[in-house]
Amino acid sequence: MSEKRTKKINDFFIYKNNNLYVEDVSVINIANNIKTPFYVYSTASLRRRYIDLATSLNNIKHSLYFSVKSNSNLAVLRVLSLLGSGMDVVSGGEYLRAQKAGVPGYKVVFSGVGKTYDEIKLALNGGIRQFNVESIPEIIMINKIASSLGKKAPISIRVNPDVDAQTHEKIMTGTSENKFGIPLNSALEVYKMASELNSIEIVGIDLHIGSQITDLLPFETAFIKIASFIEKLREEGHSIDRVDIGGGLGISYSTKEEDPISVDKFAIMLSKIFSKLNIEIQLEPGRFISGNSGLLITSVVYLKEGTNKNFLIIDAGMNDLLRPAIYDAEHEFLPVSETKNNDNKIVADIVGPICESSDVFSKNIILPKMTSGDFLAIYSAGAYGAVMSSEYNSRPLIPELIVDENLVSVIRSRPKIEEVIKRDQIPYWLR
Ligand SMILES: *Cc1c(COP(=O)(O)O)cnc(C)c1O
Repeated sequence: MSEKRTKKINDFFIYKNNNLYVEDVSVINIANNIKTPFYVYSTASLRRRYIDLATSLNNIKHSLYFSVKSNSNLAVLRVLSLLGSGMDVVSGGEYLRAQKAGVPGYKVVFSGVGKTYDEIKLALNGGIRQFNVESIPEIIMINKIASSLGKKAPISIRVNPDVDAQTHEKIMTGTSENKFGIPLNSALEVYKMASELNSIEIVGIDLHIGSQITDLLPFETAFIKIASFIEKLREEGHSIDRVDIGGGLGISYSTKEEDPISVDKFAIMLSKIFSKLNIEIQLEPGRFISGNSGLLITSVVYLKEGTNKNFLIIDAGMNDLLRPAIYDAEHEFLPVSETKNNDNKIVADIVGPICESSDVFSKNIILPKMTSGDFLAIYSAGAYGAVMSSEYNSRPLIPELIVDENLVSVIRSRPKIEEVIKRDQIPYWLR
């Protein structure tokens, strides 16, 4: 019997005999049964990322709320809910997903600048740990709804520490230029105003300075500001038992690099800044847990060889994975089957089929020469991938699958194009 040759990307994505596996399941086997493109997640990876973070925070009074907006598939939420995770939601729809995944209301925090009447009512009736509120009119609205329901609404006020998170401008949230939070210099007054409302209960303070942050310093700068502000709030008589520090921990989008921030160092920094306050630290990790736990599997449609440039045209487009188009994100491409003859290489831009010039995944990539039908895996596609997808160009939403050891299951199926078209209606006067 021949020895199996294995090469590990990590514990979850492995080459065995030159073929890419998600845990114990061969990607080619899946792709021979389900048309590309599709997303596939590793349960073990989701678990490991959650447990690694929780373990680093072991000595700190803390709780975790997975950011549902990063990946809202019920199966993904269920994996995390079974580990005890709470959820951070930003809409009524996400609230219902968390509920459906078995997360009780007291483990759900509700963030977002534009919570509507219906969404607030839904959460108050279903149970909520806290609303992270972002403006005075929102506080007044929550108070009014809670009062009409005979309830008290738990709130934390999201403050804006005015710190540059050194990330892409489209995912930066914590400077005075952004729409998020209440500036620190007016937050004291807002706390005072909220404390005078009968149906509001102040439970803490909240911040979230941005996403894909790759350096400890912006976090540290923001948290130091918040810690001293918490002391001020307590002196004024407000009971601040929780500090919700949001998400934003960056990940590596390359298989060759480690996480940019060590969670152990992150935990030590948190402990240094907050331990003297004897406060519960809440985290809202999204990408850190889901990002590296998913692949987008695609296949080559054509290799278009030009005089100046080669284009590898794949069947996944910006409608399936929007990050490269809007955040200039670079995802690593992995062959699903490693060709043994690596001499035949080409340089190409990897592009999608959408009629937009921003439908580009990678420029000037060196690849083994590929032909129509060859499969490729896009790494780090578990966060802000499927959730941001659309049906642009009348391309039905692509399937999502999950693997758990040797088990594999479709967790969102691809609608038939007829179903997609049937949602439109021609009004009677045009028939
Ligand atoms: C998006 C978001 C998160 C999660 O951000 P990640 O970078 O995915 O960790 C957490 N909290 C709030 C309020 C958010 O808007």
